[in-house]
Amino acid sequence: MNDSILKIENLIFEYAQYEDGENVRAVDDVSLEIERGSFTAIIGRNGSGKSTLAKNINGLLLPTSGTVYVNGIDTCDESQIWEVRQTVGMVFQNPDNQLVSTIVEDDVAFGPENMGIAPEEIRLRVDEALKAVGMYEHRKKAPHLLSGGQKQRIAIAGAIAMKPECIVFDEPTAMLDPSGRRDVMNIIKDLNKEGITVVLITHFMEEAASADRVIIMDRGVILADGTPQEIFKESDKIREINLDVPLAVNLADRLRKNGIDVPQNIISTEELIEWVLS
Ligand code: ADP
Ligand code: MG
Repeated sequence: MNDSILKIENLIFEYAQYEDGENVRAVDDVSLEIERGSFTAIIGRNGSGKSTLAKNINGLLLPTSGTVYVNGIDTCDESQIWEVRQTVGMVFQNPDNQLVSTIVEDDVAFGPENMGIAPEEIRLRVDEALKAVGMYEHRKKAPHLLSGGQKQRIAIAGAIAMKPECIVFDEPTAMLDPSGRRDVMNIIKDLNKEGITVVLITHFMEEAASADRVIIMDRGVILADGTPQEIFKESDKIREINLDVPLAVNLADRLRKNGIDVPQNIISTEELIEWVLS
């Protein structure tokens, strides 16, 4: 790969257990590179190590062994931890746990303020970030009055205001209704189009299908890594590990069983409809 923003080498992460218990190995020897500007989805059952991997990417957790490089900086280099945190933003599942202020725009300003950015620059960044997520007109409101999807958009604005090169989204739509989910996914796709590297952890296979690359994690290891077409072509293997496949892949499989020769590369509903109508 020519230009990697993230490089993970033989990452092992273990949670220490209290008293008698053995350590829990949540990530078990993962090596991975993420290309600058790409859109990678990570899927896998609960407990497969996705969130632990995500937190290792921006130095919220540090490897038990192995190395994580962000733009060539080792996350264990304490003198550069702020550089790492600024390069890789994180957005988590529950927006309520990410909002800290009583006014929307103060919340978005929180990160840049902590970075010591000049007030005029913060003003510009906050406005720009709120516009990017379509929440500018709500800037004076109290976050707790907003819908889940709107709160998550504020959390994303907070991440954008740090001007990160990469954002790791850890199941950002899991708690949202369908319209909130659609809004957040559209924002994520737009950010990627504007050049931000996106790593999206999700259990919605339709979301994974819209990435450039899909990685399946299982029990702390990478089970598969490829384009969405390559990954979802093996639909039986995916079902074997108790994951879903996109609706279009399910439908295409059923059509094939009935003798209809649907092309293997169809993974989205739009593609399936286009094929049926053509
Ligand atoms: P995922 O995000 O794929 O659901 P996690 O990274 O949250 O997976 O968890 C991976 C494994 O690590 C699981 O076995 C989980 O129980 C364990 N784990 C996660 N967080 C902790 C923690 N703070 N302390 C101990 N074990 C943990
Ligand atoms: Mg998780």
